[in-house]
Amino acid sequence: MTDIAIIGAGPGGLVTALRLHQQGIRPTIYESVPELKPLGVGVDIKVYGTREIEELGLLEEFRAMSVDAKDSIFFNHHGQEIYAEKCGVHMGYLHEQRFVHRGYLQMMFYRAVLQRIGADRVVLGAKVTRYEQDADGVTLHLEHRDGATETVRHDAVIAADGIKSAVRRQMHPELSEPEYSGITMYRGTTLREPFRDGHTILHIGNPHISSMIVYPIANDFEGTGKDLVNWVVEYERPETVEDWNAIGTVDDIVPLYDSVDIPFLDVQELMREAREVYLFPLIRHDPLDTWVDGRVVLLGDAAHAMYPRGGNGVCQAFLDARVVAEKLGEFADPHEAFLAYDDARRGPVNRIVQSMRGEGYEVIRRIVADRTDGAPFTDIEDVLPLAEADEIFSGYHALVGQPRPGFDAGEATGFRTWNDKISSVS
Ligand SMILES: Cc1cc2nc3c(=O)[nH]c(=O)nc-3n(C[C@H](O)[C@H](O)[C@H](O)COP(=O)(O)OP(=O)(O)OC[C@H]3O[C@@H](n4cnc5c(N)ncnc54)[C@H](O)[C@@H]3O)c2cc1C
Repeated sequence: MTDIAIIGAGPGGLVTALRLHQQGIRPTIYESVPELKPLGVGVDIKVYGTREIEELGLLEEFRAMSVDAKDSIFFNHHGQEIYAEKCGVHMGYLHEQRFVHRGYLQMMFYRAVLQRIGADRVVLGAKVTRYEQDADGVTLHLEHRDGATETVRHDAVIAADGIKSAVRRQMHPELSEPEYSGITMYRGTTLREPFRDGHTILHIGNPHISSMIVYPIANDFEGTGKDLVNWVVEYERPETVEDWNAIGTVDDIVPLYDSVDIPFLDVQELMREAREVYLFPLIRHDPLDTWVDGRVVLLGDAAHAMYPRGGNGVCQAFLDARVVAEKLGEFADPHEAFLAYDDARRGPVNRIVQSMRGEGYEVIRRIVADRTDGAPFTDIEDVLPLAEADEIFSGYHALVGQPRPGFDAGEATGFRTWNDKISSVS
């Protein structure tokens, strides 16, 4: 049995450990932080991500901590509705799309790793600084919290050490410094009364000014009767540091939403009452031409750091995990397995990385802003016909591997909430 080391206990590393365990492999995880805490804000788990969680036997636990996504609605900068679509099973997919707190999701995977693989296989407070390899295995250099250093030896290594991956830097010394896009994400959560039915994601604003996404990540959060609502605002500002935990304030962004008038949600109040606000700059990491160096391979954000738009970062890491584990089950030689994984995954994911740099389906808000010069419209059908928006959305869903059910058969997919598809508007 191959002795595998995983670097990083983020969602990517933990799910990889669970997938390897399903293949009869008991890996060892090295994680730099001394204690795992439920950090981050919301992530949007797509239908293909929920399928992976189900295959790990964690669907019921996941459901209990997350929110079933039912409707997705797009608004311009005046709070006028542009387009809407159903989500997950409500759209006809076999699996649910669900919203969840990134940290709670990570802790669910962590508990499963401890239970199935054992605490002795998770080494916390151990930062991997570099690797060396020969024909038989890989030596990892570790730095512990107290400054002590150590080397450990494994047959092969999967590096899931995130956007600032030390392994990626060593594997690809030729890479230039990643470039700041000019856009920073303000990310927050707010405890408040549920809006609409408590299952809706909103996409708001004119992207030439600023763009906002809002969705609940827990209903009846900790028994309060309130929803924990996640929101993200994109806004151009001077360069900031690429750090998931950088703290910010809402002072810059609240005035940008003066003209937004949504009947069921005061978005300025939502921002002002946030429990916490983090800043995260959108940094362009170029797609890599290989994820493999002999017996070492990259996975998750280390392999394909992408703009955290639309939940694909975490869901794509789930797919990486499944495929790398399957290949290690199939090939005796880890190098062969890693090459087969790279071959299966790198092309499709790199296309998503590039697509996330654009706006994906969010482009419809820019189209509407451009066609109306940013002014309110009278009839959206004159500005952006439903059929045109449907084409855009169907193309995007197919790109990320979840083609829209019914679209090719000519069935209506998108809609506006004033028609009969939406039953409950509060
Ligand atoms: C603190 C934090 C908060 C985040 N919040 C959000 C969020 O709110 N929304 C969102 O969409 N995405 C968020 N992300 C990113 C999201 O988790 C990833 O995009 C996605 O889940 C893929 O996960 P990953 O495991 O590849 O990377 P990550 O989740 O980044 O995990 C990488 C792990 O590797 C560890 N690590 C790094 N370097 C080393 C090293 N040299 N040696 C050992 N261990 C190392 C890190 O401590 C971390 O635990 C966050 C990531 C982090 C680390």
